[in-house]
Amino acid sequence: EVIKDKCVECGKCVEVCPVEALSLPKAAVEAKTTADPKSDPEANHTTATVKETPSVKVAQLSGDLGRYQGVWVFIEQREGRIMPVSLELLGAGRKLADKLGVELSGVLLGNQVRALVDTIYEYGADKIYLVDHPVLNYYRAETYMQVFVKLVNEYLPEIILMGATTTGRDLAGAVATELATGLTADCTALDIDTEKRLLLATRPAFGGNIMATIVAKNHRPQMATVRPKVMKMEQPVPGRRGVLITPEIELSETNLLTRVLEIVKEQGEQVNLQEAEIIVAGGRGLGDRDNFHRICGGLAEAIGARVGASRAAVEAGWIEQKYQVGQTGVTVAPKIYFALGISGAIQHLVGIRGSDIIIAINTDPNAPIFKECTYGIVGDVNKIVPLLIEPLQKLLA
Ligand code: FAD
Repeated sequence: EVIKDKCVECGKCVEVCPVEALSLPKAAVEAKTTADPKSDPEANHTTATVKETPSVKVAQLSGDLGRYQGVWVFIEQREGRIMPVSLELLGAGRKLADKLGVELSGVLLGNQVRALVDTIYEYGADKIYLVDHPVLNYYRAETYMQVFVKLVNEYLPEIILMGATTTGRDLAGAVATELATGLTADCTALDIDTEKRLLLATRPAFGGNIMATIVAKNHRPQMATVRPKVMKMEQPVPGRRGVLITPEIELSETNLLTRVLEIVKEQGEQVNLQEAEIIVAGGRGLGDRDNFHRICGGLAEAIGARVGASRAAVEAGWIEQKYQVGQTGVTVAPKIYFALGISGAIQHLVGIRGSDIIIAINTDPNAPIFKECTYGIVGDVNKIVPLLIEPLQKLLA
């Protein structure tokens, strides 16, 4: 343990620690030696010069870690369309970059995607690293990882954010493994410890029973993925522009292990709960399959909402897994979320906290959902929902 008020930040303990477990306590450091032989001939203290930002003091790191600067957001695009989660992350990344007093950059990989750069600036990026190449036409872990790692090794960002989509999860894991750095997946909150210059990545842990804040103290870049709709998308600033960097990276199909022949889109109904404005979700309290669809589906249809479900309802076989909301389902952020016969287990709650209004109906006045909801009705869904349909239709018309 470092006794903070006795530590003079000389760094000697850091040098002698046999397991390299120590670092300077105040994450100080544009290190300066200020030996003052007149006052203390023994002194050879390292002092910290801390860079000022308008509101807070932000540490500067010395050594290898100090070479890494700036916040990056991976701009995920499919068929030339930016995935909304990337724009959400630009908003979150902007806040982190401002706290650190550094630039926010977007990393855009693809084929003929240059037209997207203006949007990326407008959502907050100061800089864009664009690698536009036919080999990057479709996402492949192999090519995207190689390009991303080259960019990181050349430009040394301190933080990288990616959407926790199928692509983002795949790429983040591959990049973090290749760089041998820390990655926190599925974060629900991001912040900066300005004193230690660390990314504070918060996510549910131990089955959602606790929220853990995870840091990567000794490695850079610090990486995190965030699910769609967890961060609020900020308003774009039309006409905002920045710096475009187009690194030359040699790419060829020749030595690649995979080749994309064709993309076959999934057939069947698209659920897309993440984009829904109103969701009526049902849980075990609906009793059985028929009642689930009668009550939950009935209300959803009457007010033009989408149907969602708790894991209990999914596991009972009342509805498919793609409708599940929560930690192992989707994270949603509708204007109104109805929780019918859902107790409010933490694993469900982490998926609905971005909702503007939560309306819960439950027979148990002590159900945890009542601590989380905006409006709570204690009672039987079978009696209450039919009474709500008409007034809700008028209200929402
Ligand atoms: P219950 O907890 O059984 O609650 C049913 C509620 O209905 C009760 O509160 C009861 O009072 C009420 N009720 C009964 N009859 C009526 C009635 N007639 N009218 C009104 N109310 C009534 N769960 C998820 O939902 N999503 C996830 O993504 C998810 N991921 C998980 C991940 C892990 C690792 C684990 C361990 C669990 C996860 N769970 C998830 C499960 C979660 O812990 C709960 O078990 C689940 O959310 C409970 O679903 P429920 O609220 O429908 O059922």
